[in-house]
Amino acid sequence: MTANLLDFDLEGLAAFCERLGQQRFRAVQLFRWIHQRGVACFEEMTDLARDLRERLPSVARVQGLPVLAEQASADGTIKWLFDVGDGNAVEAVYIPEDDRATLCVSSQAGCAVGCRFCSTGHQGFSRNLTTGEILAQLWHAEHELRRRLQTRERVISNVVMMGMGEPLQNYAALIPALRVMLDDHGYGLSRRRVTVSTSGVVPMMERLAQDCPVALAVSLHAPDDALRDRLVPLNRKYPLHELMQACRRYLPAAPRDFVTFEYCMLDGINDTLTHADALVALVREHGVPCKINLIPFNPFPASGLRRSPRLAVKAFADRLNAAGIVTTIRKTRGDDIDAACGQLAGDVQDRTRVAQRLARRGEDLAVVRVQRPQGAREVAP
Ligand code: SAH
Ligand code: SF4
Repeated sequence: MTANLLDFDLEGLAAFCERLGQQRFRAVQLFRWIHQRGVACFEEMTDLARDLRERLPSVARVQGLPVLAEQASADGTIKWLFDVGDGNAVEAVYIPEDDRATLCVSSQAGCAVGCRFCSTGHQGFSRNLTTGEILAQLWHAEHELRRRLQTRERVISNVVMMGMGEPLQNYAALIPALRVMLDDHGYGLSRRRVTVSTSGVVPMMERLAQDCPVALAVSLHAPDDALRDRLVPLNRKYPLHELMQACRRYLPAAPRDFVTFEYCMLDGINDTLTHADALVALVREHGVPCKINLIPFNPFPASGLRRSPRLAVKAFADRLNAAGIVTTIRKTRGDDIDAACGQLAGDVQDRTRVAQRLARRGEDLAVVRVQRPQGAREVAP
């Protein structure tokens, strides 16, 4: 089996090239062809020495993921469903906004944490993605969008590890993937524009601070252990005081001077003003500089939960803001294509559902309108 070069960060690729008797600058050239130009065919990498170009196919390949489906939302969001084999699929979501374009990337097929309100959690855990599979989502989205928009400029400005899976439970594959995102010879994203979102794997938060500090989002969802135990089962292992301490310890290394707490608003469960007050007290007690992002719950069939009413979300946000904690309400994007937070399931069942829905709507997968942040120039693929 040849090596998939998407599995390597630049150091890994340099080591690979060294084993082939090649100097480091060859690795830089290869890396730039792959990640900056989106080229998979060695023959097209014209500035590589001819003998290397001819030798590479026998030892290496650049292998992305097959796209099973692509859907575009009325709001410009695009969701790709990628095949990762054995009946598993993962999703990535492109979210264009006025001043940025974010790609939401998956780290696992399924998730072992099993949060009560999350569609991925309900599906259970299949397996970790490889570094190459994590990067293949960005590689495909970035270069496909550039082709459609007929631009050589970077399209995706931000990456959030908020797709399917718990990134800090796939740490070994995550770190090289983050490094490629940050590398100037790769995607050149700044550390502040790459966010890892975690349900609170405390020991790995500490390692992330050392190995590759990027922006951190922590999925909180409850202000006390009793409630959080029920919503995020990992809380039984790493309770709130440990999690809050880990957040504090993360900050000195972090590219931002605050942690983003995500809080999914569930009707009658965690959305009263009493909960808001307890949340303020929790944050103050531990002295964690933070912003809070309220996510109105995105329903999925098996959840048995309801989204908090708009007014309850607003009142909750007002209470936190009044206490001096900067709080925003996340706009729901792409919910008409089940691309909103927590709706990513990506299993075989979901794939069938996607196919049925597309067939019903008579949508043509090939015709997807691409929205560009700023100046929204739309180009047919
Ligand atoms: N496993 C990581 C990252 C993926 S989930 C984590 O839990 O942080 C990304 C975000 O979506 C998390 O904040 C998660 O709590 C939230 N989320 C999950 N299911 C949701 C749902 N049904 N509605 C709204 N947000 C949800
Ligand atoms: Fe896993 Fe995150 Fe979903 Fe929880 S919210 S089940 S940690 S993906």
